[in-house]
Amino acid sequence: MQPEAGDRAHAESSSAERLAAVEREVAAACAEAGREPSTVTLIAVAKTFPAQTIRPIIAARHRVFGESRVQEAKAKWSALKAANPGLELHMIGPLQSNKAREALALFDAIHSVDRPSLCAALGKEIERQGRQPLLFVEINTGAEPQKAGVLPQDADAFLRNCAATYGLTISGLMCIPPFDEPPAPHFALTAKIARRNGLGLLSMGMSGDFAQAIRLGATHVRIGSAIFGERPPHATN
Ligand SMILES: *Cc1c(COP(=O)(O)O)cnc(C)c1O
Repeated sequence: MQPEAGDRAHAESSSAERLAAVEREVAAACAEAGREPSTVTLIAVAKTFPAQTIRPIIAARHRVFGESRVQEAKAKWSALKAANPGLELHMIGPLQSNKAREALALFDAIHSVDRPSLCAALGKEIERQGRQPLLFVEINTGAEPQKAGVLPQDADAFLRNCAATYGLTISGLMCIPPFDEPPAPHFALTAKIARRNGLGLLSMGMSGDFAQAIRLGATHVRIGSAIFGERPPHATN
């Protein structure tokens, strides 16, 4: 399996080297799929890692990062953003409606739009702050009860409501396939829902499966451990 091969490489290489290796794999997957590498954005997922671990990746000229908690992101990125103009920060974790204000002030993209109450809060804050982040609706493709996201059968109506009721411009869909299933059918389903709703962006693919996601149309891959190394257990979000 890919993750194991990756793990061995992690022990002997720096995060900047691992980033370069991931970039090469992204380019190879694009070539195989007949796609331009510029159509895939690599989001370096920095959750749980401190600023000193992130700085070498910024120094290697990477600019797009992901975080999954508002408070953690605020603590780490306020200073990093001030010191490094041009950074782009993506919120990839579940977002509570009462954090919409802070999230919009900090993030350039939100991948986890999944509830009417969050849509309402985001709509209000987008207007108030005059910011327009890139928005993705999260699809719970495996219909997992513990997981966030809109059920596939509710997706079309939810997307219509985002525009009609909350005035949100949704640019794409995001999915996190079930941990214990082959991811390809989940990527394909997400791509299909996006296509029939006229959405151009697909946030899918993580360290273990980004090549497959790119083959199935991913425009944003969210890669953490393949770049930064293993996270401590209990810290997957
Ligand atoms: C942590 C996380 C990732 C990155 O996972 P890796 O397997 O470390 O690449 C991607 N997407 C989401 C939503 C995450 O929470």
